[in-house]
Amino acid sequence: MDGKALGERIRAEVAREVTELGRPVGLATVLVGEDPASAIYVLKKQEACREAGIAAFHHELSEDTSEEDLLALVRKLNEDERVTGILAQLPLPPQIDEDKVIASIDPLKDVDGFHPVNAGHLLLGKPTLPPATPSGIMELLLEYEVPLLGAHAVVVGRSNIVGKPIALLLLAEHATVTICHSRTRYLPAVVREADVVVAAVGRAGMVTADMVKPGATVVDVGINRVDGKVVGDVAENVRAVAGLLTPVPGGVGPMTIAMLLRNTVRAARYQMRALAFPGR
Ligand code: NDP
Repeated sequence: MDGKALGERIRAEVAREVTELGRPVGLATVLVGEDPASAIYVLKKQEACREAGIAAFHHELSEDTSEEDLLALVRKLNEDERVTGILAQLPLPPQIDEDKVIASIDPLKDVDGFHPVNAGHLLLGKPTLPPATPSGIMELLLEYEVPLLGAHAVVVGRSNIVGKPIALLLLAEHATVTICHSRTRYLPAVVREADVVVAAVGRAGMVTADMVKPGATVVDVGINRVDGKVVGDVAENVRAVAGLLTPVPGGVGPMTIAMLLRNTVRAARYQMRALAFPGR
């Protein structure tokens, strides 16, 4: 499943929507500290924004920034009408409570979909800003017409960013969902039952060919650096068994950025009241 091609199509679609929207769209990114991986991610997000006609407002704060100062910046961005989306790049340094920062973002500008209000709406099946990686996976499954109704989907990983939300989105499409984690017993046997496998663990090659039912759809979310190369959570030999597979790189990664842009436009629509946001 080619996430690069689909991601580009979605980005072009977003660019068209931005021109048709009739109001400026802007994403504020906040980076605290100098983590090189985070800096690259933020830069990529800014570039993608500009390409889609979304203004990119970047705020770089030093490693020793206080929680209070960061919260004050978020409050300012919440009030700024040019800013229709706010993204605080995680992880934040230890003196800052991530939960507090996420909760301080206006839910209507929370383009990462991490605010408890958006997470709650996802759980309840209400309109929301869904987290980008899981919604990108759903777009790929839709594009490749992977049957989900009644299918058994096994999600390996239960993080709030990937595992839990993708399980909810699959459930909403009427899959029968099993969530696995580090304490799951007989993991290979559970994964072998799956029509759709989502591997979101962060361990290179942990899903091997003997764990995959022939013909199953395998989504590899993992990003692991091994000997200077980026590899996923799914072993090379799965290619011979899976019916469909997302490559790493070029699968889920590019979809994540595309969906972040889509969320930024959706957030603008919520703010314009062109889309209804529950409770507002
Ligand atoms: P987390 O570390 O938050 O979660 C990992 C999950 O994997 C946990 O639920 C953990 O279980 C589970 N796990 C760990 N070891 C095992 C094991 N041996 N068997 C079964 N389950 C296990 O990671 P994220 O969800 O944030 O990310 C997962 C991967 O996806 C990472 O490689 C990350 O880089 C990548 N990623 C990629 C994105 C993209 O755009 N392509 C976006 C976001 C993440 P437990 O809860 O019990 O500890």
